[in-house]
Amino acid sequence: MSNHPPVAPVWIRGITIRQPWTTCILTGERTIKNRPRHWSWRGWLLLHSGQSVDTPAFRNPLVARTIRGRHLHTGAILGVARLTACHQDPDKAAPCDPWAHPGSHHLALADIHELALQLRCPALAGRVASGDDREQAGSALNLAGAILAGSNQPHGAGDVRAQHVAEVEILLVVVNEYLRTASDRSEYAYLLESMLSFEGVVSWREDLAWGLVNEEYEVSCPSCQANLFIVIGERGFFSTSGDYALSEDDVETTPLRPANPADMDGIGRRLHDIVLTDGHQDVANAMTYVFGDATCPDCETGFSVADQVSSDWSATH
Ligand SMILES: [Zn+2]
Ligand SMILES: [Zn+2]
Repeated sequence: MSNHPPVAPVWIRGITIRQPWTTCILTGERTIKNRPRHWSWRGWLLLHSGQSVDTPAFRNPLVARTIRGRHLHTGAILGVARLTACHQDPDKAAPCDPWAHPGSHHLALADIHELALQLRCPALAGRVASGDDREQAGSALNLAGAILAGSNQPHGAGDVRAQHVAEVEILLVVVNEYLRTASDRSEYAYLLESMLSFEGVVSWREDLAWGLVNEEYEVSCPSCQANLFIVIGERGFFSTSGDYALSEDDVETTPLRPANPADMDGIGRRLHDIVLTDGHQDVANAMTYVFGDATCPDCETGFSVADQVSSDWSATH
């Protein structure tokens, strides 16, 4: 396994979308996703339903009609879709689609499928263990991790982990092999998350990679409950409140305060050390922000980013 040549994997990317918008996509009615920035990547996307719910959206008649009679799952991978294009409408033109926001970048989605992932764990483990194709094995590890992470949810299909102890042990060995040889940041982040999932580490397994890859975490302020985005990446290192997703301009931001690696402990210290050992300096740097502190731009309360991501996770599972 360790002799794989370095190849660029065709990776399944993830995108986190709040309910009820996720379900609007899964019905097939909504094929445009609004984003504040251009996204050059094309291919398959895992549609991950965020933990918090955009409650005001229920008053939108288009939304209300589309989700009628549907259960709105949160904090889980609910489907896949193919991202085929990203465009902006011409200035002053009418939006290209009823779901499109003026001024936003419009991701065009096709081949939208709702998933029942819980049922596919044994098949994936077999494929990982027997396959010699890095790309396929990586995708299978990614999906198996997501399945195990989802298996303890209230709507999950029983205790997948207990039923598949041997497969999970194989997956853990294999994921560690791949971690040591992963070159791509996204690939590495997903493998790290899968590792936590196979180990049974709760509260981080669904969120770590989504945040590292999308370069943002979605949390609520522990004091005023405002919906906040913690941005860690190319756009900077700051926290900002909920309307950030719709308007990139004129939002208030406050800088994050990274942890000093020497002072980190627990899961944060362990992840930071693994990531440094594997040679991913940029991910290690991101970890110091994930396990550092943020300030709410609305009420100026300071809080631990990691604590807030995991407490939001606990509150919805
Ligand atoms: Zn458009
Ligand atoms: Zn606040």
